Amino acid sequence: MKILSLLIFFVINITCKENTTVYICNSPGAKKYHITSDCRGLSSCSYKIVKVDIDKAKKDGKVLCKWEK
Ligand SMILES: [Zn+2]
Repeated sequence: MKILSLLIFFVINITCKENTTVYICNSPGAKKYHITSDCRGLSSCSYKIVKVDIDKAKKDGKVLCKWEK
């Protein structure tokens, strides 16, 4: 099972390679990152919306927002 999830992670990594910059809500409770800055998941953000590298967002434990899956 570990190999399978690793494989899925690898495939996701490849498909996301073109988008290296993502948007996150600079809120302490934010757990998602967004591909587009006008995503509906970001519209509820009352903090600053910041642009970060996708690798950094993932390292911070952020996951792709549910609206963009
Ligand atoms: Zn989003």
